[in-house]
Amino acid sequence: MSKPLTELIVTASERLSPGMVRLRFRSEDLSAFVGSEDTDRYVKLVFGDPAALEKGERPLMRTYTALDPDPVTGTLAIDFVVHGDTGVAGPWAAAAAPGDRITVRGPGGGYAPDREAAWHLLVGDEAALPAIRQALTTLPSDAAGHVVVQVDSAAHQQDLGVPAEMSLTWLHRSAPDHPDLEAATRALPWLPGRVHAFVHGEAQDVMHGIRPYLLKEREVPRADVSISGYWRRGRTEETFRAWKAELAAAEADG
Ligand SMILES: Cc1cc2nc3c(=O)[nH]c(=O)nc-3n(C[C@H](O)[C@H](O)[C@H](O)COP(=O)(O)OP(=O)(O)OC[C@H]3O[C@@H](n4cnc5c(N)ncnc54)[C@H](O)[C@@H]3O)c2cc1C
Repeated sequence: MSKPLTELIVTASERLSPGMVRLRFRSEDLSAFVGSEDTDRYVKLVFGDPAALEKGERPLMRTYTALDPDPVTGTLAIDFVVHGDTGVAGPWAAAAAPGDRITVRGPGGGYAPDREAAWHLLVGDEAALPAIRQALTTLPSDAAGHVVVQVDSAAHQQDLGVPAEMSLTWLHRSAPDHPDLEAATRALPWLPGRVHAFVHGEAQDVMHGIRPYLLKEREVPRADVSISGYWRRGRTEETFRAWKAELAAAEADG
């Protein structure tokens, strides 16, 4: 069954960094979000006029993390990476103004930090930063573990509210001496006890480097790792979906 549709109206736009804009929304009816506890809860933004679609044609959709949905006040926020003039959602968000409307489908999701875990590993790039931030809000102040986030440069860093016992590493893409996400993750001290991991970002970085490290080399049980590509360099969300399907088929064969 398809997920519910909700209409959102932009109430404010705020630059969080040179590469990210936060849009705040209100809605007459956020009942679709009642009881949604996943910190990676996401929605599909639906672009274009559904009435203009040919029969059988899929609407143009883009996936984003829905932050702090509050069905009582009818408010939620989405943090968008602004990645230039290409794409649909990035440019839309950069130009959005109060009063603009967008329909979203969802929410979906599948991860919230397991408070029974001994420590937490949160790794990602800008696209995963909103979900990492949301996960951190649910961790107790004495939580242990590591947070690693890759952004373009120091100007793109954001305050995250990381618990005192957790390490926070910012990686700068533009700095030749900074490791990539995989190398930085491998270099982290592996802590004792059960880890619960959340690893998302550019698909090649995440799926080809960090996934085998965690699942094969560190033998973390699959159920304790939330890992996937959130986007793919050089691909739109549609062609990225096709790439994911090819990867899954290749893995099933081999
Ligand atoms: C579950 C989930 C949650 C997500 N949550 C968020 C979120 O909260 N915030 C967020 O910003 N993104 C999030 N993403 C990623 C977002 O869906 C993709 O980045 C999406 O491709 C953006 O759509 P677009 O229309 O701007 O660009 P597209 O039309 O899809 O792509 C156009 C071009 O831009 C490039 N591109 C796309 N995304 C990026 C990027 N992040 N950085 C650099 N280049 C890029 C593509 O490679 C392509 O070349 C999430 C993805 C998933 C699966």
